[in-house]
Amino acid sequence: MLKVNPNYEKLPGSYLFAEIARRVKVYSQENPQANIIRLGIGDVTRPLAPAVVEAMEKAAREMGQAETFRGYGPDYGYDFLIDAILQNDYKALGVDIAPDEIFVSDGAKCDVSNVQELFSDDAVIAVTDPVYPVYVDSNAMAGRAGSYVTDRWDRLCYLPCQEENGFVPPLPDRPVDVIYLCYPNNPTGTTLTKEQLKPFVDYAKEKGAIIIYDAAYKAFITSGAPRSIYEVEGAKDVAIECCSFSKTAGFTGTRCGYMVIPHGVKGLGAQGQPVELNAMWKRRMGSKFNGVSYPIQRAAAAVYSKDGWAQCMDTIRGYLENARIIREGLQKAGYTVYGGVDAPYIWMKTPDGLDSWSFFDKLLRDYHIVGTPGAGFGPCGEGYFRLTAFNTRENTEEALARIVRG
Ligand code: PLP
Repeated sequence: MLKVNPNYEKLPGSYLFAEIARRVKVYSQENPQANIIRLGIGDVTRPLAPAVVEAMEKAAREMGQAETFRGYGPDYGYDFLIDAILQNDYKALGVDIAPDEIFVSDGAKCDVSNVQELFSDDAVIAVTDPVYPVYVDSNAMAGRAGSYVTDRWDRLCYLPCQEENGFVPPLPDRPVDVIYLCYPNNPTGTTLTKEQLKPFVDYAKEKGAIIIYDAAYKAFITSGAPRSIYEVEGAKDVAIECCSFSKTAGFTGTRCGYMVIPHGVKGLGAQGQPVELNAMWKRRMGSKFNGVSYPIQRAAAAVYSKDGWAQCMDTIRGYLENARIIREGLQKAGYTVYGGVDAPYIWMKTPDGLDSWSFFDKLLRDYHIVGTPGAGFGPCGEGYFRLTAFNTRENTEEALARIVRG
């Protein structure tokens, strides 16, 4: 019989959002009259921008005409989209990225997990704690996380981010090969300044490590926080950046993102020689990927059009206004909260020393509100709770009114 990948057996029980869904289902079956407001899962709720839909429709029609039909596209993405990304996401920041350093994909979740195929099996991985669970699970599936003992993986290097350190991760206290950083952060909603990112770049350079920088929420930045790690000097030699149209433009169901792998990012080959990760990824994409569909890439390019950008930013302003309502409402009610300025996430401290799942149950029972227990994002998430701004203004106001009323 086939021997299956033993690492899957090490994964802890139920996935966070499955457990949340289970508890909500039980509660709503027992309380069918409860009007439950969901501020839990990080999925967008507003429709695609009209300019984006128009581009998608036009491209779909092109696919239906012999003269304009297209078959397989380039593995790494169409030039029109790569060029739009370069101009708008990098040149505009004063960052010089070459077209062949960009790889268009079907989203950041796949990229942040697939990229680790380029690392050796014994690479040591560092993650912030709390963390977007995909970095952890995908490395655990590949066997790099070791064993799950109590509430953590024994081969991962956790970088604790808590109130005490202002959610600024410390540098690893032992040698690591890869550091996952995500800013604006999911789940804490906090950002790092260039000055706070610089020590990570310097560390990676000095130790021969690389950084996987997840910038999925960069469109939410309203403060002066960097929108790309490449705004930090030296980052092009050590950092891979993953970006997504999911939160920028509501593409969670449409699927498009991209990964930047500068030529300067290198690892060690079998003979001890430097190897470009860019060349390895090209090889990987050529063998395992046939590109993102043409209508979707046209839709993504339309995000950068004058109308498209204005419409997408309008939607983001709406989410950020929700974030403000949640943040200020909770503060008024006496809670301690973080994030929500440069991100759609609000990270609150659970009151009265409640553990995060108990607070989940209390919020559901007393206010009919669903959030996400911090413990689901890692050991340092215990004692915290995440609320998201992805809802209607009306529901957000109603949810906060319930909490403030007490
Ligand atoms: N990265 C982070 C930090 C996220 O929170 C999410 C989605 O919630 C993703 C990546 C997934 O992005 P995509 O929809 O492009 O796969």
